[in-house]
Amino acid sequence: MTFGIPREAEIAVAGPGAAATAVADVRLPAGPGATAGGAAPAAPPARSVTPPAGGSAFDHHGGEAYRPGTPHAQARIDLAAIRANVSRLCDAAGSAEVMAVVKADGYGHGMVAAARAALAGGATWIGVAGMREALALRAAAVPGRLLAWLLTPGDDWNSAVAAGVELSAGAEWAVRAAVRAAHAVGRPARLHLEAETGLGRGGATASDWPALVDTAARAEAAGSVQVVGVWSHLARADESGHPGCDQQVANFRSAAERARQAGLTPEVLHLSNSAATVTLPEARFDLVRPGLAVYGLSPVPGLAGPAELGLRPAMTLTARLASVKRVPAGHGVSYGHRYRTPRETTLGLVPVGYADGVPRHASQAGPVLVAGRRHRVAGTVCMDQFVVDLGDVPATPGDEVVLFGPGDRGEPGAQDWARAAHTISHEIVTRIGARVPRTYTDGTVSGTC
Ligand SMILES: *Cc1c(COP(=O)(O)O)cnc(C)c1O
Repeated sequence: MTFGIPREAEIAVAGPGAAATAVADVRLPAGPGATAGGAAPAAPPARSVTPPAGGSAFDHHGGEAYRPGTPHAQARIDLAAIRANVSRLCDAAGSAEVMAVVKADGYGHGMVAAARAALAGGATWIGVAGMREALALRAAAVPGRLLAWLLTPGDDWNSAVAAGVELSAGAEWAVRAAVRAAHAVGRPARLHLEAETGLGRGGATASDWPALVDTAARAEAAGSVQVVGVWSHLARADESGHPGCDQQVANFRSAAERARQAGLTPEVLHLSNSAATVTLPEARFDLVRPGLAVYGLSPVPGLAGPAELGLRPAMTLTARLASVKRVPAGHGVSYGHRYRTPRETTLGLVPVGYADGVPRHASQAGPVLVAGRRHRVAGTVCMDQFVVDLGDVPATPGDEVVLFGPGDRGEPGAQDWARAAHTISHEIVTRIGARVPRTYTDGTVSGTC
């Protein structure tokens, strides 16, 4: 099994901005066989860095870090890990450029901070789903080329075109909306035409594609738009070797060819998400669009973990025990008493729940690390809290509970929570709620926090 990612023990953080940051901050674990729980690299002291400017709906976490008192829970984001992951993805992408996907508040890591770290790691493009996300990035003065691909007629097309946001068009109405905006603001709209090649989601189907490219070519000839990209998205990139990927690559090539026949000369063809970036070289084209891997999580967890891919998880989610108590055998725990203590034991109360993004589906299953030992959620995850059975381990209120992180201290990973909740790690990090403050560090944090 080979991945496109080279497996050197160390990578140098390359790309714009890298020189200004500590290049060797992140030493990625050695290649195959290295486990995230193995010998931790020498950790430089954590430096707190300025969180992204607050104010918009998309970077509401920033200001939280400055509230007095220790938060019940916090998500610590290692920006050096994001930089190094992107650098690794740039290596994997070969001659293709990297668009770091920072939609959904940077998969829960903070959109602006994630975008800046990704650009410092060598990404040249930033990708988001919605126009509001794109405009928030522009408002925060994040540089780089910027694409938004999930648009509706009611979006603020004028502001997006005026701000130089590149826009997806998967239907003729979108080309018309772009043309109207271009005329309104006096600048051509830059479009990426979306082909439906087999995902069964957005984009023009094979039968609608000729009309879309012809309409776009006319708008381009009139000077209203520039068609800079043709793109699509894969349905089964995480199922390595699935023939559906080959079929989509072939369909994509045909769509690009039909665009050329219409007289279009797109600068970039792009098809790959994280999974395709690391496992499907033939789908890289000119630009790859990794999201999950930017944050150091494996897009192909059945094949390889983050360490084997040369990635480092950037988010560590911790909480502080809110209560600790001794109870007898047979004590029913949490709603529905789905857990009953098998013997006299100590219960610890963890003050995060499904309102904070801890999946209720991980009741009786989600793993945590307390004082160096793994435990599981005991009983049902509630809105604000859940319980762990600590056995006879001494514990006091305020003790740290690690829900997931990069694994340096033997803590679970986001993928372990994904497995416990029968979902994917994308959802685990993205769903971490606004009530959990994000704290930014630049380098590996070790020890207590
Ligand atoms: C979310 C998304 C990506 C990134 O996907 P990952 O699996 O997180 O790498 C890329 N392209 C599009 C169109 C997306 O919606």
